Amino acid sequence: MSISCITPPYILTRLLDSDNVDIRQSALSTLLTTAQLRGERNVRGLIAGALATPADGRRSIFDCDHSTFLPLARLVRSEDDATVPDASVNQAFDGFGTTRTFYREVFQRNSIDDRGMRLLGYVHRGIQYNNAFWDGQQMVFGDGDGQVFTDFTGSTDVIAHELTHGVTEHTANLEYHFQSGALNESMSDVFGSMAKQWKLGQTADQADWLIGPEIFTPHIDADALRSMKAPGTAFDNKLFGKDPQPDHMDRFANLPDTDEGDNGGVHINSGIPNKAFYLVAVGIGGKSWDAPGHIWYESLKASTPTTQFQDFAETTFRKADQLYGAREQQAVKEAWAEVGIRVSG
Ligand SMILES: [Zn+2]
Repeated sequence: MSISCITPPYILTRLLDSDNVDIRQSALSTLLTTAQLRGERNVRGLIAGALATPADGRRSIFDCDHSTFLPLARLVRSEDDATVPDASVNQAFDGFGTTRTFYREVFQRNSIDDRGMRLLGYVHRGIQYNNAFWDGQQMVFGDGDGQVFTDFTGSTDVIAHELTHGVTEHTANLEYHFQSGALNESMSDVFGSMAKQWKLGQTADQADWLIGPEIFTPHIDADALRSMKAPGTAFDNKLFGKDPQPDHMDRFANLPDTDEGDNGGVHINSGIPNKAFYLVAVGIGGKSWDAPGHIWYESLKASTPTTQFQDFAETTFRKADQLYGAREQQAVKEAWAEVGIRVSG
């Protein structure tokens, strides 16, 4: 089990070079606390374990009140409670609800583990914390520093992205480094974007295919964290540089399995399978969560912790034919070819 953060280390590291001392300070404390979390996880696991009984994905939102010690957080909204004055609480609650209903109605999946796992959310974690993450038991949200990042509860696809890390953990359990880790990240982007499109009722060609367009403040020149339609184009600014995602195997990034190397480029090379899914969705046409989503979901369930890009592509090719037919299978084959992966079939 790993900590899966929405803000990739390459953005936070670049912010350490900012001229603005407050931006540098928030980026530094976010990087440090993310490293410390790995040590804290056992304590939180004990507390959450007691709450993790099957419950049809009932939601509980806690307010950390800017502390980083989750066991002290106050329960502020449960499943049957009305809205509360704190917008972050309601946004986290609603994002959980959208994701839970999306998985139930589209894939007949009962919460993250398909056994009704409770959905626990912690808002207002720490001070100016520039991240949101899923740690295997719960989702935790920072408020952002207010200069670069805003409140992370405001993005449906970020919430669905993080909860999908839980779905992946309970299915293929893709190892979080190198190609299997990039597939893990890609699954979260694919189902995260799909959940948003489902909520908005958009077809594949109407959707923005952006991940986290809401999390930057208006003065930041960035469309989003990532673009599935055009990986490598989500941002290009002085503050944190250019989006490093490739959209083809020719530009695959070979990086070390370290924090600085983004665990072998898990948030970077995910651009390749992300683009493949986008191409399948527009190639087949209509709603991404119909045939394309089901082909991906069944392929995720048929994958293993060490599945590589090529393996996953072959699985989607087989599933397209088993679940649908020749037209869908051809769209899958063409999409992977366009990102440099030839399926042999
Ligand atoms: Zn992620």
